[in-house]
Amino acid sequence: MSIKENLIGIKKDFVHPDCLLVAVSKTKPVPLLQEAYDAGIRDFGENKVQEILEKHAQLPSDIRWHMIGHLQSNKVKNIAPFIYLIHGVDSFKLLKEINKQAIKADRTISCLLQIHIAKEESKFGFDKAELEDMLGSPEIHQLENVKIIGLMGMATFTENESVIRKEFRGLKTLMEELNQMDLPSNFDLKEISMGMSGDYRIAQEEGSTMVRIGSAIFGQRNNH
Ligand SMILES: *Cc1c(COP(=O)(O)O)cnc(C)c1O
Repeated sequence: MSIKENLIGIKKDFVHPDCLLVAVSKTKPVPLLQEAYDAGIRDFGENKVQEILEKHAQLPSDIRWHMIGHLQSNKVKNIAPFIYLIHGVDSFKLLKEINKQAIKADRTISCLLQIHIAKEESKFGFDKAELEDMLGSPEIHQLENVKIIGLMGMATFTENESVIRKEFRGLKTLMEELNQMDLPSNFDLKEISMGMSGDYRIAQEEGSTMVRIGSAIFGQRNNH
């Protein structure tokens, strides 16, 4: 199957046709990204700063680059000039650094807060207490060059659909709860980034507005 055929198959399988498809191209070479681009994809997701920089330099400038992985504070400056959306904001410290680098780049950078929804300890993200701490801090209001446009989550790696569904539903419920609150003016929560190759249908049924799909488009990866 070609990338184009894979994309057509995935789109056909969408529960909500207007859900944004972010093509996760980590570890894949530039010609394969170009193939996806030629098939109409404009949103690409990467999880390593060095890789995103190299690919950004070689591919068309109308691509929207999504940082989907864990981002180290000291690397924010490299992607700040062009990054379209940072999905994995998992600490207040990181958000402050993004704001600082956004000021330097004279931009507002859109971000999603990664929420720890899975059972696994290893996954990154805010828990409820950390989120409340950040929302209660006067400093959050001063971050004028970031816009928090939604939440991101990764479900537990399991075959058990009901576990995955419950975790996705929890993320949607959390966003609804947050939207009942009096949030800082740099918050405008609308997007929910959840769903990957194995669970994007469930994610869309539970309210996902963007899915991050890699292997179903580009084939299996050898590493990561
Ligand atoms: C790799 C990755 C994906 C895509 O995973 P697939 O199973 O290949 O679709 C999605 N989100 C994040 C955060 C990833 O690191």
